[in-house]
Amino acid sequence: MNIGGLQKFSLLDYPDHISAIIFTQGCNFRCHFCYNPMLVWPRKELGKFNIKPSAKAGEKIEKVDPEITEDDLFDFLEKRQKKLDAVVISGGEPTIHADLPEMIERIKALGFKVKLDTNGTNPRMLKALIAKKLLDYIAMDIKGGLSNYDLITEVQPNIRDIKKSIKQIMESDLPYEFRTTVVPELVGKKDIEETGKIIAGARKWYLQGFKSNMDLLNDRFKNVAGFTAQDMERMRKIGAEYVEYCGVR
Ligand code: SF4
Repeated sequence: MNIGGLQKFSLLDYPDHISAIIFTQGCNFRCHFCYNPMLVWPRKELGKFNIKPSAKAGEKIEKVDPEITEDDLFDFLEKRQKKLDAVVISGGEPTIHADLPEMIERIKALGFKVKLDTNGTNPRMLKALIAKKLLDYIAMDIKGGLSNYDLITEVQPNIRDIKKSIKQIMESDLPYEFRTTVVPELVGKKDIEETGKIIAGARKWYLQGFKSNMDLLNDRFKNVAGFTAQDMERMRKIGAEYVEYCGVR
């Protein structure tokens, strides 16, 4: 596994659990507003872009340089048994790594719950992880209206795969949440309406405010003002018409 960072402690990332966060390196999307640019490219290309691994949304990522090995990671987790409840696997996009299931099996064998953060592009792996009971919580980013995905992600994702992942998550008996980052000019009210129809009946959907005062994948969005609290509340109300719970983060 290509591990880009480890946050040793979090009270926020897995609801009601004390967790550590593993950041896998590399992503198959290029979202303009991504605030983890150091985790998007394969590690070997970081130098080319003159990007140094740094923290997620102002949080501390430990031991990013030199690269964390799986041995380092499991040494750490073995020492944290009974001190942490869970491990969050985030990215980048964890499901682009074929050895993800194997790594999760090792984590589960140590007694930790596992939450997966994913962009939903690998429904085949997601299905297998759910079937093998390797996940305890799933958070899937829905980037915007499906008709807008290529504009938001700068790639041409397989929309059928995104839809399959949504369906599998909603049909699983696992706790889950969908998340959408709203960004002026890119993801707004129309996307919320379009997405709401796709995830109608879902349990939880969070609309996330856009943070622009940090390194972003596309510099053009740096320091662009996010939506106001009133705008966020208007969009939340639209979202709430489709799902059981729609919140703002
Ligand atoms: S899917 Fe996530 S990690 Fe990948 S580019 Fe988009 S925001 Fe960044």
